[in-house]
Amino acid sequence: LTQVNRYLILGTTISIVLAAIIGAFLARRALAPIDTITETADAITRTHDLGNRIDIRDNASEVGRLAATFNEMLDRIQHLFQTQERLIGDVSHELRTPLTTIQGNIELLRRMTASPTGNGNLRLEDASELFRESLTEVQAESERMNKMISDLLLLAQADSGALQIQMAPVEMDTVLLAVYRQTRRLVEHYKGKPDALDIRLGSEDQALVRGDRDRLRQVLMNLTENAVKYTPEGGAVTISLENREGWVCVSVADTGIGISEEQQAAIFERFYRTDKARSREMGGSGLGLSIAQRIAQAHDGKVTVTSQLGVGSTFTLWLPEYEEVLSETPINLKNTVIAGPQ
Ligand code: ADP
Repeated sequence: LTQVNRYLILGTTISIVLAAIIGAFLARRALAPIDTITETADAITRTHDLGNRIDIRDNASEVGRLAATFNEMLDRIQHLFQTQERLIGDVSHELRTPLTTIQGNIELLRRMTASPTGNGNLRLEDASELFRESLTEVQAESERMNKMISDLLLLAQADSGALQIQMAPVEMDTVLLAVYRQTRRLVEHYKGKPDALDIRLGSEDQALVRGDRDRLRQVLMNLTENAVKYTPEGGAVTISLENREGWVCVSVADTGIGISEEQQAAIFERFYRTDKARSREMGGSGLGLSIAQRIAQAHDGKVTVTSQLGVGSTFTLWLPEYEEVLSETPINLKNTVIAGPQ
């Protein structure tokens, strides 16, 4: 008994020691990736370098999955930071251009008010003409800045989810007609004469969607305005409305300058323009399509583009078709109240 007792004590002790050593080894091995995660997080905090990533190959374990999620989160944060930095750079650059023009004109006006005809070489009529031109330019540039700031505000609201969208049934065919009429008026504004472009109506299905009438009209006006701006004289712009398998598609097709395949994805980014000078000349700031896309997304829809350089572009607004739900209230013959559409 004494011997068995001794063996038992010895065996148990050896087992406990062995279990402790193996357990410690396994725990250290399993928790080593946590150390890597902590070190990486620490390095990011110290160096502000969001490009650091955790290098853990074992994606199957819990820690591996934690590392993969952590890396994904870092990707998103880094992308967000880069977008924000680029946006701030773009905004300051875009605002600087009109401000410089305004300052230049104010300086000119200041000098002219001090001595309207300069050193006498300028006739009084010429001086007042110059005066008028300067004021017109100041006005145009401040209007451009005003529009850019309200566009940016709208985008910021859309980003933070604070964009006010009044959801109600909207008959897209009536919106289409209003946009068609307004687009015809735009031709004269951009091209100088009303018949410079042929504005046509294509298919005209009837369609009901759920959304904000004014915002949807704004999206379509952005698309038709672009079509008018980027289509040379003699071209055509066709606006159509079609029902396609649960979607209401409003397309704006032009025979304009077109957009290359690489640039088609980028044009929906803020401030992106294929030809900055041309866009600026037309009063654009590169925000129109990003706004159109955000409004479409707020309606569970999207804006897509197909285009060929030198041939033309077709922009399509896709919106989910709205099925009007009839009220289930039974017809109350006694009070002759008939349940109507909700
Ligand atoms: P912008 O104010 O410059 O028109 P948008 O966001 O509306 O800004 O458009 C971005 C860019 O996409 C434009 O600058 C232009 O280069 C290109 N683009 C948009 N619509 C068309 C079109 N119908 N034809 C050719 N290019 C277009």
